[in-house]
Amino acid sequence: MSRTKVVPIPVMGRHNINAYLLLGRRPVIVDAGTPGSGRKIYEQVAALGVDPADVSLIVVTHGHIDHFGSAAELSRLTGAPVAGHVADLGPFRAGRAREPYLPTGPMGRLMARNKHLHMRVEPFEPDVLVTGETDLEDFGVTARIMPTPGHTAGSVSVLTDRGDLVAGDLIANSFFGLVGGRPANPPFHDDPLLNLASLRRMLALNPTRLHVGHGTPLEPDRVRRWASREHRRLSRLEAAGRIRARTADATT
Ligand SMILES: [Zn+2]
Ligand SMILES: [Zn+2]
Repeated sequence: MSRTKVVPIPVMGRHNINAYLLLGRRPVIVDAGTPGSGRKIYEQVAALGVDPADVSLIVVTHGHIDHFGSAAELSRLTGAPVAGHVADLGPFRAGRAREPYLPTGPMGRLMARNKHLHMRVEPFEPDVLVTGETDLEDFGVTARIMPTPGHTAGSVSVLTDRGDLVAGDLIANSFFGLVGGRPANPPFHDDPLLNLASLRRMLALNPTRLHVGHGTPLEPDRVRRWASREHRRLSRLEAAGRIRARTADATT
């Protein structure tokens, strides 16, 4: 048993888009950034004093291109296998996110028009196909992959022995980290109610900190308060029949 440390790897800006390095007996990378950022992630791993050839696994949190865009490249550079959840196999194999993106608010409606979100990136085939909770001890870190569906059907988080939750887009910071430490929805969720249920399930495990794809780390108590407000907001929308969600479809 060794304690697992979580180190952010900025992919864009200081924390607009993050990947993470888990340091245990062997290093594990979580998320692979936008297309063309494989080399940048590789170099930051090396700059942290880790031999990239030692990386035992690359965990992709979900099928959006700002998280798996460089998975194939990073896997080639490091030689590490890639893990991804079976329910996002369609996007991984196609090299593009499921469309249309379903906005969570005005920010998402604006962003949905950004052509970069609709591009095709290099596809990949997961070497480790995640179908449920997955222990990462064999990959050298005392941590588990936890399925946290909702943002996409195949969204996962990684929970370490120290209680660090690397949460992908389960939750984000206001305006992509411009307002640091303040919880907010990411611009899109395939299923907002399911995502909130996943978030609350993770909060019930008493994580010490949430490390997100977009923005600075979040304190669990602040996220709990946010989740209560979000629950009330979504309940009102649901009562008014105004929640859109993508129907389950693992193939597209
Ligand atoms: Zn996403
Ligand atoms: Zn994202």
